[in-house]
Amino acid sequence: MTEPVNLYDLAAPQLEAALAEVVSPVFRIRQVEEWMYARGVDSFDAMSNIPKETRAKLAAHFTLAFPEVLTRTEPAPDGSRKYLLRLADGNRIESVYMPMGERTSICLSSQAGCAVGCTFCVTGFFGAGRNLTPAEMVGQFYAIQHEEQIPMEQMNVVFMGMGEPLLNFEHVVTTLDALYRNLAPRRITLSTSGIIPGIEALARLERRPNLAISINAPDRKRREQIMPITAKYPLERLMAALRRFPLERGRDVTIEYVLLAGFNDAPQDAVALARLIDGLHAKVNAIPFNEDANLPGWMKRPGDAAIDRFVDTLVRNGVRVTVRRSKGRDIAAACGQLRGKEIAKSRATNGREVDARR
Ligand code: SF4
Repeated sequence: MTEPVNLYDLAAPQLEAALAEVVSPVFRIRQVEEWMYARGVDSFDAMSNIPKETRAKLAAHFTLAFPEVLTRTEPAPDGSRKYLLRLADGNRIESVYMPMGERTSICLSSQAGCAVGCTFCVTGFFGAGRNLTPAEMVGQFYAIQHEEQIPMEQMNVVFMGMGEPLLNFEHVVTTLDALYRNLAPRRITLSTSGIIPGIEALARLERRPNLAISINAPDRKRREQIMPITAKYPLERLMAALRRFPLERGRDVTIEYVLLAGFNDAPQDAVALARLIDGLHAKVNAIPFNEDANLPGWMKRPGDAAIDRFVDTLVRNGVRVTVRRSKGRDIAAACGQLRGKEIAKSRATNGREVDARR
């Protein structure tokens, strides 16, 4: 028996066509879409202005299921907290809620694991996983919006959780189109390790989210040391692709830079980074490394004085920079930690290699 189609998996034209087979007249289709995208419901029963028989027909053909919230951490000092969610096939993923004054960001995962293998990242440590479907990404957005009761006008989204979004391009684009129903593209940021064909494909889209690039070292050699995939997409070619990327007025590329003590945090590294991005409409987001028992022991978070020196040097070299000092928000360095703890716990209790995702 084939599984019912999750309506949140469908791009707008396919959604219209699928609904038209079951729902009429046209204004009822609009009502269903409104329940989905303005309210983010995960059940047809919630659609109180849709006749009962139509809801029954919809439920017979389709589903609206979201990932299930398993746990959420206590809020960090800055109010942010992580969510662990279970997918229908048992995979676990993480999302993060980040209140920021009048704005709130939700950090979404795009894959259940990651094949990119950045050595500073717990998700990379545990290896590849499958691509998430649009419903699983849209579902993270609404599940957390509902849990935290965030007004839609405050919402921002960052694709900065588990996975490399540009290696799940088609599903991410469908998800972006769904998110655009409520959020302007400038309120959505996609963070990539630098998958050049994906950046070029993103550049060709009519509507584009903000782009963030995980750079993490000012030169090719050190970048390849901690981000092996960059051997395939070298720094020089990446910078050329960024210089070609079309930016709307007032928008910047965000350069993410995970600070590792003694590796990439010296003032001369800041000078080299400033040179690397010279002429680019860019701002740097410096992210002090978040230590984790699964990651190499030599990787340490720099002390506050070293962070200050690095940031001050960037500023003196004309670079706009923000630094994420609060642990709750060290997303790029910390993604996958909650799930990683669960996998490690499962391995310890079973005495053998069992991935708790299953
Ligand atoms: S930092 Fe991002 S791209 Fe790199 S391994 Fe982790 S999830 Fe993948």
